Amino acid sequence: MNFDTITAISTAQAEGAIGIIRISGKNAINISREIFRSKTNKSIDFENKKLTYGYIYDEAIIIDEVLVAAMYAPNSYTCEDIVEINCHGGIVPLKRILKLVLKKGARMAEPGEFTKRAFLNGRLDLSQAESVMDLINAKTNKSFDLALEQLGGSLSEDINLMRKNIEELMAQIAVSIDYPEEDIEEITYGEIINKLKLLFDKVIDLANSGEKGKIFRDGLSTVIIGKPNVGKSSLMNVLLKESRAIVTDVPGTTRDIIEEYLNIEGIPLKIVDTAGIRDTDDIVEKIGVEKSKEFFNKADLVIFVLNSSEKLSDEDREIMKYIVDKKAIVIINKTDLKQAIEEDEINNTLHDKIIIKTSITNKFGIDKLEKEIYNMIIGGTIKENESKLVSNTRHINALEKASNSLKEAIQATKDRMPYDFIEVDIKNAYNYLGEITGETVETDIVKKIFSNFCLGK
Ligand code: GDP
Ligand code: ZN
Repeated sequence: MNFDTITAISTAQAEGAIGIIRISGKNAINISREIFRSKTNKSIDFENKKLTYGYIYDEAIIIDEVLVAAMYAPNSYTCEDIVEINCHGGIVPLKRILKLVLKKGARMAEPGEFTKRAFLNGRLDLSQAESVMDLINAKTNKSFDLALEQLGGSLSEDINLMRKNIEELMAQIAVSIDYPEEDIEEITYGEIINKLKLLFDKVIDLANSGEKGKIFRDGLSTVIIGKPNVGKSSLMNVLLKESRAIVTDVPGTTRDIIEEYLNIEGIPLKIVDTAGIRDTDDIVEKIGVEKSKEFFNKADLVIFVLNSSEKLSDEDREIMKYIVDKKAIVIINKTDLKQAIEEDEINNTLHDKIIIKTSITNKFGIDKLEKEIYNMIIGGTIKENESKLVSNTRHINALEKASNSLKEAIQATKDRMPYDFIEVDIKNAYNYLGEITGETVETDIVKKIFSNFCLGK
C-alpha cells in the first residue's frame, strides 16, 4: 500500500547517548537526502541497511553529527522505505531534527503507526503486532520470551492451521448442501462431529493457557498486609533485593503506598506495601471505604505478615478473618526471636492457607516463599509447550467465543439440524479465530489497539 511519509522520535524521550528519529514512507529517502550531507556539504548515497556517517543540515547550517541507516522497501520494519537518523541523545538535537524532517514534508506519526503499517502492509499479523508492545512492556524475562514467541508467529501458526481446517470442513459441507441429490461423497453428521471436536479441543487448550499467560504478561497485583512493625517493608526489600521501601523501627512510618514489580520465577508481582492496618485506615480516609475495599479486593494475592515474637492481637485476628476466603499466603516472621504467637490458632483459622515461617533478618524462608508463590499461582507442573501460552485478553476472549460457536455447532450436528444451519456456527468460529490474527477484525478495534502503543514504535 502507498501511504504518506511519517516520522517520530523512536527512542525514549530522555537523555541518552543516542537518539533515533525514524522516517517511513515514500519520501523517506528523498527527505533524508535533502538534509543529510558530508562535512564538506556534499550529498551522500545510502547503502541499504548500512550505517552512513555524516551531518544533518538545515539549509547551510549543521544541526548535528549523525549516523544514518536506510532500509529500502519492502525489506524493512514497515515494508516501506525507512530511514533512521542516529543523532546525539539529547532532547535538543532530537527535536531539531524532527522539526526539520516535518518541514520537509513528513507527517508526525501516531502512536504505534510504524507497527500499524507493518500490519497493514502484511508483514505482521495483528497478534504479532500486539506482541511488539508486549516486548516493550515485558516485566520479566519470561514475559519477554512469551512475547518473542508470539512475534515469531507461534500463535498465528496455530490459528491459521485451525482456520484452514475449518475452511476445508465448510467446503465439504457446502458441497453436500449444493448437490444433495447427486452422486458425490457427502460428509456425514458423524464426520462433522469428529472434526468439530478436534477443533474444539485445540481452541479450548489455547483458551485455557490464557490464565497463566495473562499472569506472565500482566503480572499479579499483590498486597502485603499486617500490623505495623511486623516486617512488611523488610520483606518487600528482600524480595526486591534492594532497598526501595523505607524500613524503620517506628511503627507506621511507611506512609505512602509503594508500588513495585517483583520477579518471582518469571511471574511479575505488582506489589503494594500498605504499611499495615494503621496505614490502611489512612487509605480509607483518603480514598473512602468503598474504594479501599475495592483496592484490597482487586488484589490477586494477599501476603499476610505476622510477628511470631508477639501474641496475636485483635488486628491480626481481624485480618485473619478477612483473608479466609482470599488467595493468601501467611508469613510468620521474626522466628529468630523468642516465640510467643499462638500458632495453633493460626493453623486452625487458616487451615487451607500456605503458612511459612521466616526470619527476614537472617534471610531465612525467603526461597520457600518464592517457590510457594510460584506453585500457588502457576500450579506445580508446567507443560512442555509452555511457550505457547496465550496472554492477551483480546485473544483469550476471541478463543472463548470461537469455542462457544464450535460447541453450538457440535450440538446442532448432534441434533441433526440442516447443514446450512450448522454452517452458520462454524462460520462464526472461523471469524472469531480470524479476529486474533486480524483477518476478520473491525477497523476501529485495530485503531484502538495501535493507539495504546508508544510513539515512534
Ligand atoms: P513494617 O512496619 O511491617 O513494614 O515493618 P518493617 O519492615 O519496617 O520492620 C520493622 C522492624 O522489624 C525493623 O527494625 C526490621 O529490621 C525488623 N525486622 C524485620 N524482619 C525481622 C526479623 O525477621 N527478625 C527480627 N529480629 N527483626 C526483623
Ligand atoms: Zn513498612
